[in-house]
Order: sequence, then C-alpha cells, then structure tokens
Amino acid sequence: MSDSLFADASKRLEEAMKYVAISDDALEHLKYPKSSLAVSIPVRMDDGSLKIFQGYRVRYDDTRGPTKGGVRYHPNVCMDEVQSLAFWMTFKCAVLNLPFGGAKGGITLNPKELSKMELERLSRGYVDAIADFIGPDIDIPAPDVYTNPMIMGWMMDQYNIIRRQITPAVVTGKPISMGGSLGRDTATATGAFYAIQIIMPKFDKLPEDTTVAIQGFGNAGAWLAELLFTAGYKVVAVSDSQGGIYAKNGLDIPRIRQYKTSSKGIKALYCQDTVCDIADNQSITNEELLALDVDILIPAALENQITQENVNDVKAKFIFEVANGPVASGADKILEERGIYVFPDILVNAGGVTVSYFEWVQNRSGLYWTLEEVNQRLRQKMVEETEHIWKISQELAISMRTAAYVHALHRLGEAINAKGTRDYYINGGMS
Ligand code: GLU
Repeated sequence: MSDSLFADASKRLEEAMKYVAISDDALEHLKYPKSSLAVSIPVRMDDGSLKIFQGYRVRYDDTRGPTKGGVRYHPNVCMDEVQSLAFWMTFKCAVLNLPFGGAKGGITLNPKELSKMELERLSRGYVDAIADFIGPDIDIPAPDVYTNPMIMGWMMDQYNIIRRQITPAVVTGKPISMGGSLGRDTATATGAFYAIQIIMPKFDKLPEDTTVAIQGFGNAGAWLAELLFTAGYKVVAVSDSQGGIYAKNGLDIPRIRQYKTSSKGIKALYCQDTVCDIADNQSITNEELLALDVDILIPAALENQITQENVNDVKAKFIFEVANGPVASGADKILEERGIYVFPDILVNAGGVTVSYFEWVQNRSGLYWTLEEVNQRLRQKMVEETEHIWKISQELAISMRTAAYVHALHRLGEAINAKGTRDYYINGGMS
C-alpha cells in the first residue's frame, strides 16, 4: 500500500512532527483510524432489479469530540480514499478548534446514473447499514462530493425512523425546513473566500489585479467563483468534470451559474449540462486550466490533481485548496522550491464543517441563528485560525500546510495527553 492515498496523506504528519514536541503515545495514536466499517447496501432499482452498492464509514479519531465528516457519492470511493478523507477531517476540525474528531463516509457509484427515487432508497439503505456507527454524540455525517441537503434530509429522516425519535443533530447540511442552518450551503465557499481575503492583502494584491482559475464547478467551486466575481476578482477560467472555459478578460460567472443550475434534469438531482456548452468562451481542458498563468489557482474538485507529473506546468503564484487533497505530497516540495504558496485544504475548505458545527449547536440548543450571525461567527473563526497559522509559518519558516498541521497537532496532542501518557504513568501521575 506504499503508494496509497492514505500513505501519501500521512507524509504531511511526518513533516509536521519535526516542529512539534508531541508524545510518542499521541503520535502512535494518530497513525491509525479508530474504527472502519464497510457495508453492502441492497437497493431495489426502478426496473425491479436488485443492485448491491458498497458503502464505507471511517471514524478516524474522536479524542477531541464526536467524529465529523461528509459522505461522498463517487465511482472512485474506496476504503483507502475514505480513510484519507477521515484523517484530513481530524486535522481540519482541530485546525478550526471545533469540538469534533474526524470521520468520512462514501458509496461507490456514479450518482448521475440513478433516478431520484433510486438515490433516496440508496441513501436510506446506507443509514440502515451504519445506524449503529453514527449518532449526535458519536459520529455526524454531512454533505461531500455529489451529496446535498436533500440527501442529508433523507438520511436524518431514516435515522429518526430507526431510533423512533427526532434527532436533527445526527446529520448536518440538512434542508433548512428540517433543522438545517442558514449559510451551510455556501459555507465552504464563504470560508475559502474569507481565507483569500485575509491572505491576499499580505502580498499587496488587490482583487481587480488578481486573476483566478477554478477547477471544479460543484457547490464549493461555483459559489466561490460567484463570491470572487462579486468582490471584483477576475475569474478567467472554470471547469467541471467534462472540461473548462477560459476568457482572458474574465468570465461572466452569474450567467454561467444560472446556466448550470437551470439545466438540472427533472428526474435526477444532478445537472446534465456542462460549463463547456456556453459557446462564447474559449474551451480548455482540465489539465490546461491547471497550467494557466494566473495569480490564484483553486482546485475545487477531487484529490491528486497536482502531482509530481504535472507540478512543473503550474504557473499560478498562489494555490488555495478548496478540494480535499488536490496536491499530492510529492508536489509540495517542488511548489515550495518554485516559490508557489499553497494554502492547505484543512484550513481553506474548513468553512463547511465549521458551519456544520454551528448547525449541530443550533439543533441541540433549539435556538436558530440569522444568516448574519452564522457568517459573522464563521468569519471570526477563519480570521483567528488563518492568522495563527500564518504566524507559525513565518516564525518557523515553514509552508502554510506544515504550519496548519503543527497547529492541529498541538491541539490533538494536548487532548491525547490529557487522557494519560506514558510519562504520566512513569512519573507517578498526579502533580
Ligand atoms: N465534506 C465537507 C468537508 O470535507 C464537510 C464536512 C462536514 O460538514 O462535516 O469538510
């Protein structure tokens, strides 16, 4: 498994350890997932046939609280990927100082091939299979790639049916009418936007002088494109799974978003069309987008997009990781040597899980916040943690990624040690 995604993800931990005095116990603890579940989900398809889907849920570490993380519907989902994503969630929650550990789930499928009814049966079947593994004080699922509020609503409803009680805090990212939080749908993009706005002035870059390319036009990528466009940034390229478009003087993002959302098929949950169909722009491939000479490159799709193979093609000066794991560890050093700043996923895309935390708090207190309250609290968290990580990176002269891991490791190490360490027992305990 030497070239597995998880082995690659763990390398970031090894790098960060050089800068943190963390106990051997804590380190040993963080090398392995707490528990992993693989399930088979039988689904009756619309044509009457029975299909079995493979599903996963990994709870990586719960030292700092119940585990938290999304559920992904994608053909590439496998245990290695889910475990890596759960590992990243552990560090992400620690970076933002949320009282959560990390988890992730997924089902291996191409959701665009299923009807809405089939997706509902599959989502409910997944909850039937993992119901004993999750709970508001154990593990709390949320949306991720190709899952959305409607799917979260089905999942919460199914959990309620199983438990025979209304338990909104078991899932976050729900529809507002079922206890969802205002601002959760835009939270990943809003958090990333705040991070960009905190960082760019440090380099004296004004929005109107900053060109941006975004790979991925899903929930996070599309909302972020709109926020950046509205703030005056020049978004020159966007792409989706079918390809991308480029316009030297900037794209009309609201028009592209409207086109993508209005063309949603009625039968399924996903839009059938692609940004490539908007004719009056130059079309480019996803690979070409990654190699554009722009100020900011935003990978907002899947992991492993910038690797040792294509890292030398990258011409952007700043990379903000909105996807989880888009830059492979082998590319980190090369980017650093070439003077390209990478702002890591576990900070940049943490707005989603932060507002998930706010949703969980609102569900448990029964008191709901305004959109302004949600965004103001999110902003405060992003400012605090981004500045803290920036300071660590400046003081230790390390990358923002390593600094983010150092910051998270301090918090995780402290919590693990508080449970008892070897030193604690050897030195006789209470002082
Ligand atoms: N899937 C999102 C992430 O990767 C959100 C997770 C959550 O809200 O729990 O951060």
